[in-house]
Amino acid sequence: MENTINGLHHITAIAGGAKKNYDFYTRVLGLRMVKKTVNFDDPQTYHLYYGDEVGTPGTILTFFPWEGITAGRRGARQVTEIGYSVPKGSLDFWLKRFEDNKVLYNKPAEKFGEQYLTVLDPDGLKLELIVSKTADTRLPWETAEVKAENATRGFHNITITTNKIDATAKILTDVFGYRLLEQHVNRFRFITDAVDNAAIVDLVEVAGEVAGHVAGGSVHHVAFRVKNEEVLMQYREKIAALGLHITDKIDRNYFYSLYFREPGGVLFELATDNPGFSVDESVAELGSGLKLPAQYEKMRGELEKSLPSLV
Ligand code: ZN
Repeated sequence: MENTINGLHHITAIAGGAKKNYDFYTRVLGLRMVKKTVNFDDPQTYHLYYGDEVGTPGTILTFFPWEGITAGRRGARQVTEIGYSVPKGSLDFWLKRFEDNKVLYNKPAEKFGEQYLTVLDPDGLKLELIVSKTADTRLPWETAEVKAENATRGFHNITITTNKIDATAKILTDVFGYRLLEQHVNRFRFITDAVDNAAIVDLVEVAGEVAGHVAGGSVHHVAFRVKNEEVLMQYREKIAALGLHITDKIDRNYFYSLYFREPGGVLFELATDNPGFSVDESVAELGSGLKLPAQYEKMRGELEKSLPSLV
């Protein structure tokens, strides 16, 4: 855990309407909104974070909701599936829940010996609820309707679709410390042993697939987890040494970040465990207030009026 990439940290996607997004993730899927803030590069837009009780890295899915944004298109050079870990025996609960809530889903299927359910969020973002082959002892966030025996545990994996896996695979193995675990036809499963969960990246190779379009219902970037800023900067050197462009360290209030585009075209971020989401509100209060970085505090009155209501 010390100097390694510790699996997934968070995934950031683009949504349409904020309220629809909030309802789906907090009510239907039963996640906790752990932070309500704004896009630091576009403060008129929310940045909503959903995760477990404290927003543990490896459970965090975040959105920039832009009302009326055009739909994106899944394709190559993108994260095309987001896999959540769910308990054994819970898929019937989820099937009924998606049916009752008129959510689009597919019948359960299986890959790498794991049963899963594919579901689309209100903007068409593709999620999978996967019963992991390995134990997942992470404590779930519970709601009145989604109890622990069914609740998501955080991420199981992500899937990246690419025309040719080699360059992306090389970043995963040679820089991030992942290894090839299994292969089935054109799906290559990579795993890191640094963590027990949120440890898998699947690369799907489709030579003729056109590049996807990042807009509503698609993933903007995926962040991998490091312990602290010291490790973050060690990885900055390793990635820069490959001749890839990588940003300076950016303060995201709840973590420190670096961004680079991996050679397969996906925007990767590295993000630290520290300081975490309880830096500006208590664990009990997480997600309850609009939290603004210092530079936008003076705009609070205006933003509270213009940002859409979630309730
Ligand atoms: Zn991010």
